[in-house]
Amino acid sequence: MNKYQMLMGGAWVDPAGGAWFESVNPFTAQPWALVPRGTKEDVDRAVGAAKTAFYDGDWRKLTATARGALLRKLGDLIAADADRLATIETTDNGKLFAEMRAQLNYIPQWFYYFGGLADKIEGRVIPIDKPGVFNFTREEPLGVIAAITPWNSPLLLAAWKLAPALAAGNTVVWKPSEYSSVSALEFGALFEKAGFPKGVVNIITGYGNEVGEPLVTHRDVAKVAFTGGDRTGEQVYQMAARGIKPVTLELGGKSANIVFDDADLDSAVKGVVSGIFAATGQTCIAGSRALLHRPIHDEFVERLLALAKTARMGNPLELSTQVGPVTTRPQYEKILDYIRIAKTEGAECRLGGGPAERPECGSGWFVEPTVFTGVAPRMRIANEEVFGPVLSIIPFEDEDEAVGVANSTVYGLAAGVWTTSIRRALMMSERLEAGTVWVNTYRAVSYMSPFGGYKRSGIGRESGSEAIREYLQTKSVWIDISGNSPNPFVLR
Ligand code: NDP
Repeated sequence: MNKYQMLMGGAWVDPAGGAWFESVNPFTAQPWALVPRGTKEDVDRAVGAAKTAFYDGDWRKLTATARGALLRKLGDLIAADADRLATIETTDNGKLFAEMRAQLNYIPQWFYYFGGLADKIEGRVIPIDKPGVFNFTREEPLGVIAAITPWNSPLLLAAWKLAPALAAGNTVVWKPSEYSSVSALEFGALFEKAGFPKGVVNIITGYGNEVGEPLVTHRDVAKVAFTGGDRTGEQVYQMAARGIKPVTLELGGKSANIVFDDADLDSAVKGVVSGIFAATGQTCIAGSRALLHRPIHDEFVERLLALAKTARMGNPLELSTQVGPVTTRPQYEKILDYIRIAKTEGAECRLGGGPAERPECGSGWFVEPTVFTGVAPRMRIANEEVFGPVLSIIPFEDEDEAVGVANSTVYGLAAGVWTTSIRRALMMSERLEAGTVWVNTYRAVSYMSPFGGYKRSGIGRESGSEAIREYLQTKSVWIDISGNSPNPFVLR
C-alpha cells in the first residue's frame, strides 16, 4: 500500500500527529492506500504556507499573463496524465473508469479557460460625479481560499474551484474528501511540475471535523468554496459566518426530470435512465425524480424499466460496466435505508430494491438500480437526496402541476424537461426554480456555463466567466486631481 504525504509550502510532509488512515477500494472493500490524518497543527501549517505565498512569495510578482500561462501548462500536464489519474479515482471512489476518464480529459479545459481569463480581469474608470476627482476600481484577489471537495467527482469539483481561484491570483488550501484523497495527492505533484511557486496550492487530508472545521474557521482563510451535502454545507456556512467570510456552496439536489406527452420518448427514456443510474446516482445533479405526464405514464414506465434492466453492473475499471459500486459504506447503508423508507411509505418498488448480489459485483458495495412508482410528492423519497441509484416516479396532469411538484422541494440545483414544444420549453425553463434547466438533454456541464443552485442547493456559481468574480473583491480608488484642498467639514 502506498503511504502518502501532504503538500504544504511546496514540500511533501507527514502529518503532525503521525497518524494515517486507510482508503478503501469500494469494488473490493479492501484498503489500498494510506492517507495522512491531518490535525489542526497541519491546518495552521498549510494556511501559513498559503498566506506566505499570497503576501510574500513569487506568486504576487507574476503578471496576470504569466499566471494564466501556468494554469494552461497545468492543463497540459493533466491531459498527459489523464488515464493514470482516472484509474486512481476509480480505484478510490468506485465510479466508472469511463466516466472518470471522460472527466479527466475534460478537466484541462477549466484551466485553459480560466487561464485565459486571468489577464482579462479589468477594473473600471468611473465618470464620477465630483469635479477634480479621478475614480477607478481594481479587482483584487481575496487571499487564502479553502477548497473543500467531496468524493463523487474529486478532481473535477476541485478544478471548478482551483482554476478560477488561481486565475484571480489567490492561493489555496485544498481538503479533499476522506474517501477520495489519493487522486488529490497525486494531482498535487503537477503544480510543482507546471512551475507554480511553492505554497500557492497546499493539500491537507483528514477528517471533516479534524481538519475541515479548523480550516474553515482559520482567521487567515479569506473564503470557503465547498461542495458536499447540504447539512455539512449549513455547518460550513455557519462557521464561515462567524468570521464574516464569503462562501461558495454547492449542496446537491432532488432534481426533477419532467417528461411531457409530446416528447420524443426514445430520447426521454435514455435521458431519464442516464440521469439517475449513470454514476450510480452519486451525483448532485442526479435526476432522482421522474415526473411523467399522465397520458404517457404507463408506457414510459415500461420502456424505462426495460432499459434500466439492461444495466451491466461490475468492476468499475472495466469499460463495459455501466453501474458501479457505491463509494462508501455509510452511503451504501443510507441508500438501503431510503429504499426501506420508500417501501414503508407505500411507494411501489418496480425494479431492484436492495443490495446487488451478483457474482460480477464481487464484495463491493452495490445497490440494484431501483425504481419506485406511485410516489407521492409528500413522501420522503420524493424530497430528500438519496445520492444513489434510486428513481422516484411521480405522475402529473398538466404544466401547472408539473411546475408545482418540481419546485416543491427545498432544493433547486437542476431540472430536465422533455418536450417538442418550443413554448413549453421556454415556459418551463422560466418557471422552474433551478440553477440549470436542460431541455431534451440531461447532465451536460461545461467550463463555459455557470453552474450552481437555487434555494438550499447552494450559493454562488462555478464555471463560466462569472465564477471568477467569486474569487475577487472590488476596491474603489479615489484620487484628487484638482490640487485644491477641500473644506474638511464637508462630505464630498
Ligand atoms: P460531506 O458533505 O460530509 O463532505 C463533503 C466535504 O466536506 C468532505 O471533504 C468532508 O470531509 C468535508 N467535511 C465534512 N464535515 C465537515 C465540517 N464539519 N467542516 C468542514 N468540512 C467538512 O459529504 P459526505 O461525504 O458525508 O456525504 C454526505 C451526503 O452529502 C451524501 O449522502 C450526499 O447526499 C451529499 N453529497 C453531495 C455532494 C454534491 O455533489 N453536492 C457530494 C457528496 C455528497 P470528510 O470526507 O473527511 O468528511
